[in-house]
Amino acid sequence: NNVKKYTEMSKDELKQELVSLKKEYERYQAMEMTLDMSRGKPCKEQLDLSMGMMDVLSSDSDLACEDGTDCRNYGVLTGIDEAKELLSDMMENNPDNIIIFGNSSLNVMYDCISRSFTHGVMGNTPWCKLDKVKWLCPAPGYDRHFAITEYFGIEMITVPMSPEGPDMDMIEKLVSEDESIKGIWCVPKYSNPQGYSYSDVTVRRFANLKPAAHDFRIYWDNAYGIHHLYDKEQDYLIEILAECKKAGNPDLVYKFASTSKITFPGSGIAAMATSPNNMEDIVKQMNFQTIGHDKVNQLRHVRYFKDIHGMVEHMKKQADILRPKFEAVENIFEENLGGLGIGQWTNPKGGYFISFDSLPGCAKSIVAYCKKAGVKLTGAGSTYPYHKDPTDSNIRIAPTYPSLADLKTAATLFTLCVKYVSAEKLLSTMN
Ligand code: PMP
Repeated sequence: NNVKKYTEMSKDELKQELVSLKKEYERYQAMEMTLDMSRGKPCKEQLDLSMGMMDVLSSDSDLACEDGTDCRNYGVLTGIDEAKELLSDMMENNPDNIIIFGNSSLNVMYDCISRSFTHGVMGNTPWCKLDKVKWLCPAPGYDRHFAITEYFGIEMITVPMSPEGPDMDMIEKLVSEDESIKGIWCVPKYSNPQGYSYSDVTVRRFANLKPAAHDFRIYWDNAYGIHHLYDKEQDYLIEILAECKKAGNPDLVYKFASTSKITFPGSGIAAMATSPNNMEDIVKQMNFQTIGHDKVNQLRHVRYFKDIHGMVEHMKKQADILRPKFEAVENIFEENLGGLGIGQWTNPKGGYFISFDSLPGCAKSIVAYCKKAGVKLTGAGSTYPYHKDPTDSNIRIAPTYPSLADLKTAATLFTLCVKYVSAEKLLSTMN
């Protein structure tokens, strides 16, 4: 088609473009929409998929787990065996390496950092007694990760991301030289927000890191491990715990996952997989924290899914709801922005997000224009530590929550705002 790159337009052409874009924008404003595309929440239809879970337990159910323990009562600190088995299959680890927690994996990550501050990691100096604690943050990344490390006063160092994963040259160098670097956030599969999956080389380089700090841990947040959008085209991630063991680095990693985006984000189950040494260290603290997590919910998940095959089938139904939403956004982006030279976006095969990069200096303004027309996006900058996107270009798109019809309207408005802000920007550089 006859698209002309914005970057090749004359001053007059850009001015003309702005006039027609403004009219179009006003048309959207008149629609008085209130749409929220800011968080990666499942939509109602997705939540409804798991309603069968409400029926597997009733007042006359036997709430004893396989070893006879009454799940209604106290105890079983690290989770019931059958839940460990289900989650270990999901996480591709041995059930012996699994701890089951409450409903939130983010909560577990927070606790790991909190524990490291107050009591240290495996006998090392508690971080609260150190002058400085630093953390590596591949970015764009997950805003709530960065929020936790910021809350603890940890100095965050941004590491650039690529489709293969974070910049490993930089990571290897930094961790081997600086003992105050204690950890790194990783979303290794269908990353938040790009939907990238780390390459085999990247995972092996992680497993082979030689950190100066003995208490350095990789926070491997595999939140989207089985969250594929397609049956045939799926990303594959090699298993980090096994690679660490092979590399002689068995204690290097804490791996996290949950069923938040499989069943209910408010009432799923979270789990961690790690080495026996790390488990011992963590369980020591858990003993003071709780007598045990919600075993009835663990049992409910196990009885509903039965095994990993049940979970995989369930995820196909999730994908059937999400695939059209991702594709609608991608198609609208391509149709309205393709060839204009004013934006790039990812086309993930799984996960919950699409990452959009505008021309430098435009993201905040694009998000503001969307908001003025009633569409709330994730704040520009929030995909970077301290909310500081150095080029003000990254925007996280969360297509899961709105209805398909609303999403199409919102995505179209978004592309309109991208065009408008880009044209304004280009024009301003011409004076
Ligand atoms: N990690 C990542 C990468 C996420 O995107 C999310 C949810 N947006 C979470 C963790 C939150 O997980 P949970 O519900 O288990 O706390």
